[in-house]
Amino acid sequence: MPRGILVTGGATGIGLAVARYFTGRGDTVVITGRRAAPLEEAAKETGAHAVVCDHTEPGALLRLLPELPDRLDVLVNNAGGQTDFDSPGGDDLAAYARDFRANLDANLLTAALTTRAVDARLADGGAVIHIGSIAADKGSGAYGAAKAGLASWNVGLAGLLGPRGLTANVVSPGYIADTEFFRDKLTTERRDSLVAATAVGRPGVPEDVAGAVAFLASPAARNITGQVLNVNGGEYATR
Ligand code: NDP
Repeated sequence: MPRGILVTGGATGIGLAVARYFTGRGDTVVITGRRAAPLEEAAKETGAHAVVCDHTEPGALLRLLPELPDRLDVLVNNAGGQTDFDSPGGDDLAAYARDFRANLDANLLTAALTTRAVDARLADGGAVIHIGSIAADKGSGAYGAAKAGLASWNVGLAGLLGPRGLTANVVSPGYIADTEFFRDKLTTERRDSLVAATAVGRPGVPEDVAGAVAFLASPAARNITGQVLNVNGGEYATR
């Protein structure tokens, strides 16, 4: 039977790979994002239903609800990103506060607000999966703090959803090449150092993350909840 799936930020990168996996199975998939153009393109390619939605906005989430399947089997909280690549230094406290809040909103509030908004639709036996980051463990300013907060918040969520037969987990990628996340933001040296930090000697691709999501959304993972699944090419195995 086709499952009902929501992939936030599903028009590009990791979210698009996740959406492709589920539409490929014949599931009913809704993808979201703030920009209409990439959503339209992704919808054409995958057959997913695309809805413009800013997941930091409660009003936008309420408008999203009628677009979703009545029964949501899998929620993938993938929307996010690092908003302080060019964080101003010095004593511009207002700019610092703006950047800090933007990271928390983009990576933590999005997931919490979305999960809360769709809670009544989540089907027994379903799965909530957040896309975290290795930055949660390695330290990466406000972005890393937001992703660490996401993993911590998820533990409580797993406790709340467990009695309903729902699981809640985090997939935590390392460096995933060729998404908008790092595009035009890395020097060759920085890219090489990220690859050198892996045990496998190559960056991940969005499909690596989609594979982990697919597993956590499958019946094989029904007894796994409140966990973080690292998909980082063995970054913790290198010295
Ligand atoms: P992308 O920039 O391609 O994907 C992010 C997606 O999220 C975009 O489609 C973006 O669309 C959407 N998005 C961002 N904010 C919002 C919002 N407020 N509401 C709705 N949609 C939003 O990069 P990735 O695919 O790499 O990133 C996906 C996830 O993976 C992110 O959570 C990121 O933090 C995480 N990650 C990525 C890593 C990497 O190396 N690439 C490593 C570790 C984690 P739009 O701008 O149109 O809203």
